[in-house]
Amino acid sequence: MLTCRICGASVREFVDFGRQPLSDAFRKPDDTSEEYFFRLAVGACESCAMVQLVEEVPRDRMFHADYPYHSSGSALMREHFRRTAQEFLETELTGSDPFIVEIGCNDGVMLSAVHEAGVRHLGVEPSAGVGEVARGRGVEVLTEFFEDSTARAVRDEHGPADVIFSANTICHIPYLESIFLGVDALLKPGGVFVFEDPYWGDIVERRSFDQIYDEHFYFFTATSVRAAARSYGFDLVDVRRLGVHGGEVRYSIARPEARTPTAAVAELLAEEEARGLVTRETLDGFAAGVAGIRDDLVALLRDLKAQGRSVVAYGATAKSATVTNYCGIGPDLAAKICDSTPAKQGRLAPGSRIPVVPSEEFAEPYPDHALLFAWNHAEEIIAKEPAFRDNGGRWILYVPEVHVVE
Ligand SMILES: [Zn+2]
Repeated sequence: MLTCRICGASVREFVDFGRQPLSDAFRKPDDTSEEYFFRLAVGACESCAMVQLVEEVPRDRMFHADYPYHSSGSALMREHFRRTAQEFLETELTGSDPFIVEIGCNDGVMLSAVHEAGVRHLGVEPSAGVGEVARGRGVEVLTEFFEDSTARAVRDEHGPADVIFSANTICHIPYLESIFLGVDALLKPGGVFVFEDPYWGDIVERRSFDQIYDEHFYFFTATSVRAAARSYGFDLVDVRRLGVHGGEVRYSIARPEARTPTAAVAELLAEEEARGLVTRETLDGFAAGVAGIRDDLVALLRDLKAQGRSVVAYGATAKSATVTNYCGIGPDLAAKICDSTPAKQGRLAPGSRIPVVPSEEFAEPYPDHALLFAWNHAEEIIAKEPAFRDNGGRWILYVPEVHVVE
């Protein structure tokens, strides 16, 4: 029996993407070592409603020194995090020497704004490479995984925090209990723990199955986050829907005696109940919808190939690994993946072995069709590549269904 990582009750598996590689394991073409694979499948707890992977990948395999994702890669995300920092600076700081901590600060995109405001801060980031970029922006970084012991050490050295923030990181961490124990040790009595992650409600609505990959262990809802927070002595006191990364929610967690939940919490809980986000019907319907996308996408790519049309992919995202490996898309159906990240260029995409080339090669020459893996940045990318469409090129998107943008 599968058991819930949060409450220990039984978990029902509802979708299986088969054998998957590590989503960021871009290989050198001459690398002959065996590739790591695991079974990517998702279940939901029948008691606390937490949606979770059924198999865990060891964290050191994912969040190592060469972790390639840089949060500041998108202009939209830079603006999002600059505003986030501004909000904390304006509304959450107390005392004469306030302190902001970020779990998984990545390249310092949020904390650099805190640094520029002259406010004390610390980023706890296990991936040394991105942490070094953050240091270059003036951000204080501790190269560690955040857990109970780390949080106590930070408190002993720096004192308690007004705000503990985390973006696209808490859902990576199976051992949530240790996170909450750490937050309890580090947070001021009236402080707030704020995190934002992909929202299960948006994944269901958009059928964005590629949000499911090794790094994303949990798929949160207000219902499951509140249950988890309460089991660790906290409460969910605010929620906010965010448009970024294909749909996220920002959760604010505080001690129950410190803050009263906002009306937004009750509203989102009621909405989730009405939508039945984790009912068997919804979950099995999601799995069926995803299988339909796979069949349609493969049929389209095979059809284009038969017509002699050229197809390349755009954006060697972590989530593209789920799409290529689940659908069985290799270099025969998408000749290359264009991407602006130097660390990925000249390498082969995990599992699928599709070559990754610099973005500039997108125009040499333009393909007939481009499969857009970075669909969460579709507007930004399509606006950046007007000549592709002017040359007759067409974008292929696959959520919530396979469609060609005319
Ligand atoms: Zn549970």
